[in-house]
Amino acid sequence: MLIVQKYGGSSLANPNRIKKVARRITGLKKKNNHLVVVVSAMGKTTDELISLSHQITENPHKRELDMLISTGEQISAALLSMAIYNEGFKAVSLTASQVGIRTDNSFTKARIKGIDTVRINKELSEDNIVIVTGFQGITEEDEITTLGRGGSDTTAVALARCLDAESCEIYTDVDGVYTADPRIVPKAKKLDIISYDAMLEMASLGSVVLQTRAVEFAKKYSVVIHLRSSFNDNPGTIICEEVITMEEPIISGIPTDSNCAKITIIGIPDKPGTAAEIFQALADHGINVDIIVQSQSPDKKANISFTVDRADISTSLGIIEKIKEKLGAEKVLSDDNIAKVSIVGVGMKSHPGIAAKMFKILGDKRINIDMISTSEIKISCVIEKSKMEQAANALHSGFGLD
Ligand code: ASP
Ligand code: MG
Repeated sequence: MLIVQKYGGSSLANPNRIKKVARRITGLKKKNNHLVVVVSAMGKTTDELISLSHQITENPHKRELDMLISTGEQISAALLSMAIYNEGFKAVSLTASQVGIRTDNSFTKARIKGIDTVRINKELSEDNIVIVTGFQGITEEDEITTLGRGGSDTTAVALARCLDAESCEIYTDVDGVYTADPRIVPKAKKLDIISYDAMLEMASLGSVVLQTRAVEFAKKYSVVIHLRSSFNDNPGTIICEEVITMEEPIISGIPTDSNCAKITIIGIPDKPGTAAEIFQALADHGINVDIIVQSQSPDKKANISFTVDRADISTSLGIIEKIKEKLGAEKVLSDDNIAKVSIVGVGMKSHPGIAAKMFKILGDKRINIDMISTSEIKISCVIEKSKMEQAANALHSGFGLD
């Protein structure tokens, strides 16, 4: 059986943990499995490398940044391979260029275009445990790229797909996907199973345990992911296509996000093209906008509110101030005293009344809703930041997740 495993930075944070991981791997090897192991950089290595680059320059050249931050994975791959030898097994560590993990040339956020399986298959046939550096790729011109923060998850999923692996296990420092952030909702519990779609909504809303792109990739190619802890043997969470028999509850989780801020533009003349102008200006600066609400007043003026990442608030305000006059808007306000609380679940599609129930739960707690946004399987409310914990806990019990 061919198994692809991925170990994250916390599982490889120091030599002792690397030795532990080596023992877990060789334990599986003893059962006659073929193993391909994707590693991420040790502990906070990638953060440290990025901060090192910022001590040189505010704006590091992207190609050179990838040259730098791709090195973390090479360290953990070599060390893990040594640790496996120490256990009496054969291993070989390979970089993305040795394997042939081809990407496009968008440095720091490259996409995998294809993986050459010749070298890996050769090593496997010689009974080696193959260790692959996650997060890296190589362009057609042999330039080193990286896949975006958390990108080793994507490496693992892509390898599982290209090698047609029986299973893809992603090891991390949590037991799996939780119904809510346990630091905010103490009664949060681990989900045994979650669909790709629900997982994507949970991830994009702040409960990031897997790189979003990895889940998108897994969905596209039907790679079943088993997300689990490297610190124990408990089964984790299976992430797969939603099936009729799947025992996914109506609501899978209550993600929260206190890392957002709101901008409101007041008194914009109500005419075609203004929204395009505002959001194009933000997009041109790479600002991700989340919830957007527009309201009209009888005097042919509109107010538009939207949320952005807290880190983007001052840049966004600067951009809006610049175009304010051209828009003919009256004033611009900002508020970073907000949070977003959501409910996510594929069962929502077939159960009416879920939104009403959510609003009632919040209303009963006298929590005011500022903005609302919905998708097929998610409803999000923007509320006052100080009420986030109370709201999340009330929703968690109200939807039977306690
Ligand atoms: N080491 C990289 C990062 O910290 C990739 C990963 O962890 O998956 O983002
Ligand atoms: Mg990581």
